[in-house]
Amino acid sequence: MNAPTTLARAMEIVLGDVTLLPSETATLADARLRVLADTLKSPLDLPPFDNSAMDGYALIAADTTGATAAAPVRLTVRDDARAGAPAETVLHSGDAVRIATGAMMPADTDAALRVEDAVRDGNHLLVSAPLAPGTDVRPAGDDLHSGATVLHAGTVLRAGELAMLASIGSADVRVVRRPRVAIVGTGDELVAPGTPLGPGQIYDSNVPMLAALVTGVGGEVASAAIRVADTLTATVAALEAALVDADLVLISGGVSKGAHDHVKPALKQLGAEQRFWQLAVRPGHPTWFGMSSAHPRVPIFGLPGNPASSYVVFHMLAAPAIRAMLGIAAPPLETEATYRGATQHKRAGFIQVVRCTVSNEGGKLVARPTGQHQRSHAVSSLTGTNGLVLLSSTTVALADGDAVTVRLLDH
Ligand code: AMP
Ligand code: MG
Repeated sequence: MNAPTTLARAMEIVLGDVTLLPSETATLADARLRVLADTLKSPLDLPPFDNSAMDGYALIAADTTGATAAAPVRLTVRDDARAGAPAETVLHSGDAVRIATGAMMPADTDAALRVEDAVRDGNHLLVSAPLAPGTDVRPAGDDLHSGATVLHAGTVLRAGELAMLASIGSADVRVVRRPRVAIVGTGDELVAPGTPLGPGQIYDSNVPMLAALVTGVGGEVASAAIRVADTLTATVAALEAALVDADLVLISGGVSKGAHDHVKPALKQLGAEQRFWQLAVRPGHPTWFGMSSAHPRVPIFGLPGNPASSYVVFHMLAAPAIRAMLGIAAPPLETEATYRGATQHKRAGFIQVVRCTVSNEGGKLVARPTGQHQRSHAVSSLTGTNGLVLLSSTTVALADGDAVTVRLLDH
């Protein structure tokens, strides 16, 4: 029998098989957490015009040369410049304009005297110290020049990026289409939450979990089939239906070697091409990955039914696949933390993924294992999980106080 595929090799295979999805237009209101499809350049300067950084007076800096408290320079206030309503008066040496923050600097003025430093004498302004040219002026383009790159393709649009798009006048934006993910939950024992359990039955938790994981990473749920019976016919039919309108398929359960595991034979019957089966990752060992036969070819993950296995393999491989389809190149965020909890023992030869709660304890990041224990059926090992610690293939134990690298989720 072949050795299980290493995580690194599996990652290479998966990322080699997925392709970037096409783009579509979204309004700014719908663009939050979408991924920018094209690198954008600014069509205008930001700010678009020289403007005052302060409430005060716009003036000609040269007029204030030699001003002192004892002998202030006396200027005549000619006009009022408000944000959105520039002054109209033509100014000459010795003139000033009352100005608001963000108002356009009147022609020929080159400094602003803040209102706190200004003394008014009727129509006049007394300036008691010289101002350098440019004082409290925000020049056009000092934030961003026209023609400069604003955002790169592959950027996730969050509040700051949406503010930038609005600032350069974009009402809508080209974003990568959300990967449409079909989810199939196999298992005769499964019952949808909300109905009573019969003998030997359990509630389906993988389908809602996977749906949340898919949307959390930027995909959308194209279809969700629950309670697919453990027969070859039902499994084939569910996979066929899933493949109709999906960019990626996640099928949970039935991928091991049991008498009632029909996922591999069903995929074979459909002509799907296996890229690997069995992963050197725990939980997650019986994972299957391959490509559908039809064009365009669709990546298919056969996820082990145990909830922690499905969860871990999703994060290890399906999430990177979805991110690659979206054109996101950045690797997952990781941080150093101190492990606090019972010693975890493992054998060498595979990566073990410890589900953890990462928290700030007195200014130090601490990772505590979730659940009573971390066996693959333990749903309680998923609650509170916001980080994953990967114990390397050669590691055999993780002890309280050990320094660990944690992969952060949900950031
Ligand atoms: P399987 O991979 O089908 O052999 O299932 C392994 C274990 O995961 C069994 O204990 C199943 O009952 C459980 N399981 C399978 N699918 C689900 C699901 N959708 N929700 C919760 N548990 C599941
Ligand atoms: Mg099963």
